[in-house]
Amino acid sequence: MSAQPQTPKDPLYPDPHPTVSPQAKADLIKALEQALQADTVLHEEEDLRPYECDGLSAYRRLPLAVIIPHDLDQARQALAICRERGIPITARGAGTGLSGGALPFPNGVLMSLARFNEIIDLDPVKRLARVQPGVRNLAISEAAAPHGLYYAPDPSSQIACSIGGNVAENSGGVHCLKYGLTVHNVVAVKMLTIEGDLVTLGSEALDSPGYDLLALIHGSEGMLGIIVEVTVRLLPRPERAQVLMAAFDNPQVAGEAVAALIGQGIIPGGLEMMDNDAIRAAEDFVHAGYPVDAAAILLCELDGTDAEVSEQVHEVRELLLGAGATEVRTATDEAERMRFWAGRKAAFPAVGRISPDYYCMDGTIPRRQLGKVLGGIADLSKAYGLRVANVFHAGDGNLHPLILFDANQPGELEKAEELGGQILELCVEVGGTITGEHGVGIEKINQMCVQFQPAELTQFHAVKAAFDPQGLLNPGKAVPTLHRCAEFGAMHVHRGQLPFPDLPRF
Ligand SMILES: Cc1cc2nc3c(=O)[nH]c(=O)nc-3n(C[C@H](O)[C@H](O)[C@H](O)COP(=O)(O)OP(=O)(O)OC[C@H]3O[C@@H](n4cnc5c(N)ncnc54)[C@H](O)[C@@H]3O)c2cc1C
Repeated sequence: MSAQPQTPKDPLYPDPHPTVSPQAKADLIKALEQALQADTVLHEEEDLRPYECDGLSAYRRLPLAVIIPHDLDQARQALAICRERGIPITARGAGTGLSGGALPFPNGVLMSLARFNEIIDLDPVKRLARVQPGVRNLAISEAAAPHGLYYAPDPSSQIACSIGGNVAENSGGVHCLKYGLTVHNVVAVKMLTIEGDLVTLGSEALDSPGYDLLALIHGSEGMLGIIVEVTVRLLPRPERAQVLMAAFDNPQVAGEAVAALIGQGIIPGGLEMMDNDAIRAAEDFVHAGYPVDAAAILLCELDGTDAEVSEQVHEVRELLLGAGATEVRTATDEAERMRFWAGRKAAFPAVGRISPDYYCMDGTIPRRQLGKVLGGIADLSKAYGLRVANVFHAGDGNLHPLILFDANQPGELEKAEELGGQILELCVEVGGTITGEHGVGIEKINQMCVQFQPAELTQFHAVKAAFDPQGLLNPGKAVPTLHRCAEFGAMHVHRGQLPFPDLPRF
C-alpha cells in the first residue's frame, strides 16, 4: 500500500505520517471483510462515529475502519492485514480513557476488544482470576464476591472500564494507596505482538526470571502489543471498613493533614479530598451528606479486622482534629459509608452538571507538597479566569484538577488546555510527574518533553522499536518524538540538529 510520508497538517498528530489513497482504503476494507466475518468490520461513517474519541472528547478523529474481533484468530488476521499494508492500529477497551489514548489515528484502524469479555477462570483457592481484556473492572469483583474476594484497584470508572485498558494505563483508584495500582495486582498478561505472536508475560509464581516485561506492559498505552488475557490477584474482603469525613476551612490545611496522617505511619484503605466546588456539585447530585460550606473535605477509609479498625478510627479522628479539621464525622452505618463514597465516585459527572465543559487533569506530587500545589493551582485559576474544582486521591498525592470552561466560547478550550499544561509543569517543578493514572495519551505528550531528557526519551523509543519496529501500534501517543519536543520548545536543538539524529521517528 502507498505509505508516502505526508506533510504534517493534523495538529493532534503533527509528526509526518503515511497517507492512504481511497483505492488503498477500499483494498484494506475488502481484505478485512474477506478474512473476518461481516459484523467484525465497520467502515461506514455513521458506524465509525461512536469510536471517534475516548473520555477526552475534546479530541476527535475518525479511523479508516473499526475491527471488533470475536476471537484471537480474527485479531491476529486483522493485525497481519494491517501490518502488511503499513496501517497503524489503535487498541480500544471501553473508551473511558481521559488522555486520548484510544483516539483513532486518521489513517489507521481501531481494534475494539469489546467482544473479549469472558471471565475464563476464577480460582478462589489460588485467589486468581483469568479474564479476557474486555471484562469490566467491577465485573471481576462481582464474580469474586460469592467467595468473599474482590479485585482491589477501583478506578472511579470501574462500572465501565475494561481490565485491558486498566493494564494499558496502569490504572489506580481510591483503594490503591493501600493495595497498589494495577501493576501490583496483575500476575500475568497474554499479549499479541504486532507480528501476531502470542506471548505470556509474568506467571502465577511469585517471581519470573528475565526482564520484567509484565511491569513494562503496564502503562504502555497500547504501543507495545494487544493485551488478550489478564490474570489478576483477588484479595479477601476486609472484615470491616469504616469511613471518616473531616471538614476543613482551608484546602491547604486539608493537604497538610494528609501528609501528617501518612507521616504517622497510618495507611488508610482510601484517602480522598474534595474542595468546595466539588463538594457542592457532588452534594447537589447524589446527596451524600457533605458539609457544603466546608472549603475541603477528606474522606478517610480504614479497613481491617474489627479491633484494628476501632482502634484506628479513634487515632485518626484525634489526628485530623489536631491537624486543623473543623469537624470529623464517622459514618454511622454501612448505608452512610456508601453514601460518602457515592459522592466521591460521582464527583466527575457532578462537576459536569455545573459547567458546560470540564477538562480533567491528572498529575502526581510528593504528598508534602499538597498544600503548596493547591495554592499554586488557585493562583493559576485566578490568572486564567477559569474555575478549577479539585477532587483527588490525596493519599497518593494524585491530583485531578477539573478545569471548568465553555467550549462554545471562542478560545476557552485553548485557555483550559494551557492552564492544564501549567498545572502539570507545576507538578514536575515540585518533584512530581505529569500523570498519576490517566496516562499520557495525546493529551500530555508535550509535557513528556518537560519531564524527560532526550537520553531518556531515546530509551523509550528503543523499547518501542524492539516490540514494534514499524511503529504501527498506537502511533503519536505517550512518547513524543524529539522532533515534536523541539517544536514544543522543550529541547535544545544545536544548529538545526536534534540530539540522537538516528532515532526512529514514530
Ligand atoms: C468518570 C471517570 C472516572 C475515572 N476515574 C479513574 C480513576 O479513578 N483512576 C484511573 O486510573 N482512571 C480513571 N479514569 C480513566 C479510565 O477509566 C482508565 O484509564 C481506564 O483504565 C481506561 O480503560 P478503558 O477500557 O476505557 O480503556 P480505553 O480508554 O479504551 O483505552 C485506554 C488505553 O489503553 C489502550 N488499550 C485498551 N485496551 C487495550 C488492550 N486490550 N491491549 C492494548 N492496549 C489497550 C488503548 O489503546 C488506550 O491507549 C476515569 C475515567 C472516567 C471517564
